[in-house]
Amino acid sequence: MDLGIRGRRALVTAASKGLGRGCAEALAEAGVALVINARGVEALEATAAAIRERHGVPVTCVAADITDPGGRARVLAAAGEVDILVTNAGGPPPGLWSDWSREDFIRALDANMLTPIALMQACLPGMMARGWGRVVNITSQSVKAPIPSLGLSNAARAGLTGFVAGTARQVAGKGVTINNLLPGIHATDRADSLDRGVAEAQGISLEEARARRAATIPAGRYGTAEEFGAACAFLCSVHAGFIVGQNILLDGGATNSTL
Ligand code: NAP
Repeated sequence: MDLGIRGRRALVTAASKGLGRGCAEALAEAGVALVINARGVEALEATAAAIRERHGVPVTCVAADITDPGGRARVLAAAGEVDILVTNAGGPPPGLWSDWSREDFIRALDANMLTPIALMQACLPGMMARGWGRVVNITSQSVKAPIPSLGLSNAARAGLTGFVAGTARQVAGKGVTINNLLPGIHATDRADSLDRGVAEAQGISLEEARARRAATIPAGRYGTAEEFGAACAFLCSVHAGFIVGQNILLDGGATNSTL
C-alpha cells in the first residue's frame, strides 16, 4: 500500500533504538525525511546512517535529552516545520507504589506526560496552519490495564492520554490527527532490562523470565519494533485521516478486555 506521505518531514524523538527506531524506519521506508533524536550520539548516528543507506531519505540527528527543556529546544529548532511528529522517551523504572518520592513522580511526569505535550504544543500550530499533520504518541499498555510494577508509567501516561483525548478533537478540523500507540511487551533493550530485573528478583535465568512473560501473551511471543513501526506509519498515512484520538493496543492480545 502506498502510504501517500513520500516527501513529508517527520520528527521522531528517542529513536536510536527500540520502538522509536522502528517508527523511524517505517516512515523512512514510506519516503519520509527524518529528524531523529536520542541522548547517546554514537547509536543515534549509526541508526541515521543505516536508515539513509537502506531507504535513501535525508536523516538529521540531534543528540539531546528530550525531557530537558534546553535539549528539546535544540531538537525542535533542528526539526523546523514537520508534518509528522512521533513522541517517545525512555520509560520510568519499576518499583512498588510505596517506593516513589515526589521527585520520582516529577521525573516520570516530565518524561512521559509533559515532554510529549510540549512537543505537540510546538508542532501543532504549524501543522494546523498548513492544513495537514499527524501525531503519534508512544505510550503503553499500562494505559488500558495498570502494570503493578510500573506505577510511575501508569500515572504519567494516564495524564498524557487525557490531554490527547481533548486536544485531538480540537485540531482534527484542521486536518491534523493525534493518536496514541500502546505497546505491550516488545523485544527491545527496555524489555531486556525489565526481564533482567525479574530474573534477579526471582532467582531465575533471563531465558526463563522471558519465557514466563511470553506465556502471558496470547500471541505467545514478544512484539517486534518492525511491527510497531508499521502500525505507526499507517497512522501517519493519508489513509488514517479519520482515526482521531484513539488508543491502539499492540500487545498480542495480552490485555484481556472486550473493547
Ligand atoms: P529502548 O529500547 O530502551 O529504547 C529507548 C530509546 O529512547 C533509545 O533510542 C534511547 O536512546 C532513547 N531515549 C531514552 N530516553 C531518552 C531521553 N530522555 N531523550 C532522548 N532519547 C531518549 O525502549 P523501548 O522498548 O523502545 O521503549 C520506548 C517507550 O515505550 C518507553 O517509554 C517504554 O516505557 C515504552 N514501552 C515499551 C514497552 C516494551 O515492551 N518495549 C512496553 C510498553 C511501553 P538513549 O538512551 O541514547 O537516549
